[in-house]
Amino acid sequence: MLIVKKFGGTSVADKERIFNVAKRCAEDFKKGNDVIVVLSAMGKSTDELIAKAHEINPDPPKRELDMLLTTGEQVSVALMAMAFDVMDVPSVSLNAFQVSMHTTRVHGNARLKRIDTDRIMHELEHRRIVIVTGFQGVNKYDNYTTLGRGGSDTTAVALAAVLHADACEIYTDVDGIYTADPRYVPKARKLEEITYDEMLDLATLGAGVLHNRSVEMAKKYGVQLVVRSSLNDHEGTIVKEETNVERMLISGVALDKNTARISVIGLEDQPGIAFKLFHLLARDNINVDVILQSIGRDNTKDISFTVSRDDADLAIKILESHMSRIGGKHISCNKEVAKVSIVGAGMMSNPGVAAKMFEALYNQNININMISTSEIRVTVLIHERDAERAVNAVHDAFELEE
Ligand code: ADP
Ligand code: ASP
Ligand code: MG
Repeated sequence: MLIVKKFGGTSVADKERIFNVAKRCAEDFKKGNDVIVVLSAMGKSTDELIAKAHEINPDPPKRELDMLLTTGEQVSVALMAMAFDVMDVPSVSLNAFQVSMHTTRVHGNARLKRIDTDRIMHELEHRRIVIVTGFQGVNKYDNYTTLGRGGSDTTAVALAAVLHADACEIYTDVDGIYTADPRYVPKARKLEEITYDEMLDLATLGAGVLHNRSVEMAKKYGVQLVVRSSLNDHEGTIVKEETNVERMLISGVALDKNTARISVIGLEDQPGIAFKLFHLLARDNINVDVILQSIGRDNTKDISFTVSRDDADLAIKILESHMSRIGGKHISCNKEVAKVSIVGAGMMSNPGVAAKMFEALYNQNININMISTSEIRVTVLIHERDAERAVNAVHDAFELEE
């Protein structure tokens, strides 16, 4: 069997954890399996590197930031190889350059395009565990890129896909995927299984347990995932196309605090305004999420939308510098907001799901700022201070606990 095993930051945070991972991987290897280990940077080191960059330069060039961030994963893989050496298990660490993980150009949020498999295959044939840096790639100018926060999951799934691995295991600091983030919702329940589509929505809406692109890629290439803890042997959660368990009305609640609401007031009520506005943001790779258009005074309209909080300042700068083109009167930004979403394929055939969510929020006297829906999700924007109360209330309303 060829097994891809990915370990997140907390799972390799210190010496004990590194040896714990090495031991788990060595067990599989000694059974005769080929083993590829994908690692994230140790503990919070990516955050620390970002903070260091900002100490030097509040707006660091994106190429150089990626150059810095990729060192985090390189530390982990080298130390892991040293641990295997102590255990007399043959291994080799490889970074994105050595493997050749080709990505798109964009720094900070690159997409994997192609992975060369020769070097990895060569090492596996020589019976070595191959330890690969997660989160990083190389673009066509031979510059390091990164895949976006949490991107090591995507590295693991991509490797599993190109190498036709028999298993792709994502090890983290929780026992699996829960009905809500167990950090905020003590009553959250672990799911046995979840579909790609549901997980993709949950991940995109803030459930950081998996990088959303990793789920997208797993679905595209049919890579079945197991998400489980690196600290115990509990069975995790399987992510796959169809689940056997009886369909619940909703499968989970997601909370995203990394969001900001931008409102452009007094736009002309004419065709093409929304296009111009969102085109400007798309040009700079700014993702826009919930959008609300409303009628203003004197033949004008207002457009409000959410972006990730990290993109908010840039979005405002861009819009302000083009105000004459889009014709708005005023821009405002609110960073004290949070998005709460419910996701579940079961809601497609059940009217009243949204109403039930709104009722739960009303009972807590929580005001809703914006609403957006799709076939399998409902998202509301609320004040950040209400966020945890809201997820717990919604979780209770749908009786998702054990
Ligand atoms: P890693 O470093 O292993 O990649 P992450 O911090 O990226 O770990 O992801 C694991 C965290 O995701 C958990 O500690 C948990 O707080 C959070 N999380 C958010 N939503 C969920 C969910 N629905 N189920 C499980 N964990 C979740
Ligand atoms: N180290 C990176 C991050 O913190 C990638 C990852 O953990 O998946 O975002
Ligand atoms: Mg992660």
